[in-house]
Amino acid sequence: MSEFDIIKRHFARHHHAPGLSLGVGDDCAVIDIPDGHQLVTCVDTLVAGRHFPLDTSAHAIGYKAVAVNLSDLAAMGAKPHSIMLAISLPWADQDWLEDFAAGIYDCCQKFGVLLIGGDTTKSPTLTISVSAIGFVPHHQAITRSGAKSGQLICLSGQVGSAAFGLSHPDSRLRQDLDYPTPQVAFGLALRGFASSMIDISDGLAQDLGHILRASQCGAVLDLDKLPLADELCDLELRQAMHYALSGGDDYQLVFSIDSDKLDKFHQKHPDLTVYVIGRTTTDKQLICQYRGEPHHINLKGFDHFGT
Ligand code: ADP
Ligand code: MG
Repeated sequence: MSEFDIIKRHFARHHHAPGLSLGVGDDCAVIDIPDGHQLVTCVDTLVAGRHFPLDTSAHAIGYKAVAVNLSDLAAMGAKPHSIMLAISLPWADQDWLEDFAAGIYDCCQKFGVLLIGGDTTKSPTLTISVSAIGFVPHHQAITRSGAKSGQLICLSGQVGSAAFGLSHPDSRLRQDLDYPTPQVAFGLALRGFASSMIDISDGLAQDLGHILRASQCGAVLDLDKLPLADELCDLELRQAMHYALSGGDDYQLVFSIDSDKLDKFHQKHPDLTVYVIGRTTTDKQLICQYRGEPHHINLKGFDHFGT
């Protein structure tokens, strides 16, 4: 089966749609940018054995490749519009491709996103690169650099579940690793409320660290306020905090917000639960507390080039 047959058979569902002049099939896709908006775009690559275990189902790999990119858009407060998919395959197994494409389209459909193009090549290592395109009203993107001292630090949901799932593949939490939920509605709702935001892909400590460095402030984290799955609550504190702070693949949002803005956010979005986990400070450090007492913890996130 040729590259063109693979594209036609598995990846050519979306041609024309609202906001899309031209999808899969030409040299490029053509997208209409809504008036008064800016285009927001990102790319993420998943390498087999590195970003997902080799036993991950084709469906989950496809789903996750899309989800992690929608999570990046969510972290900017952008509304996702479409994705592009570059795949390098060691083989052209039709059953695998069918499940993989189903995973891609399932995630696209769940979030109203179109697959508008890509690239298909052969390579010894299965590699999937998805780029995503979204829109945000002019100058309303939520960046990493907007936090000010004296603001609250908040989370959109539980942390550490995916990392627990990775080391306990038979547990319920394996699902959180394989099928992360990008916080798209949450990210959109935070426009005009959050002062800075990032999605957690490499662990809460490291990703919050990116906000603090970009915003030139510090933070105090209340470890006892971290929302955790029951499986983590049953662990010894040290072990639970290892998953919650240093584990990756959560794809929750961590953001800073003024406390009066959080009150207004609650009034406007009573359906969205915000977990307040700390506050920003003027000294450029990340300090952890447990029930009000300082608590030293070895903070390590995931760094591809780290030792
Ligand atoms: P070109 O040679 O101009 O790069 P290709 O043959 O690579 O064109 O791709 C033909 C069309 O199929 C393009 O519209 C491209 O975006 C789309 N395409 C290729 N691979 C994929 C894929 N894996 N998923 C979705 N669209 C794809
Ligand atoms: Mg090409």
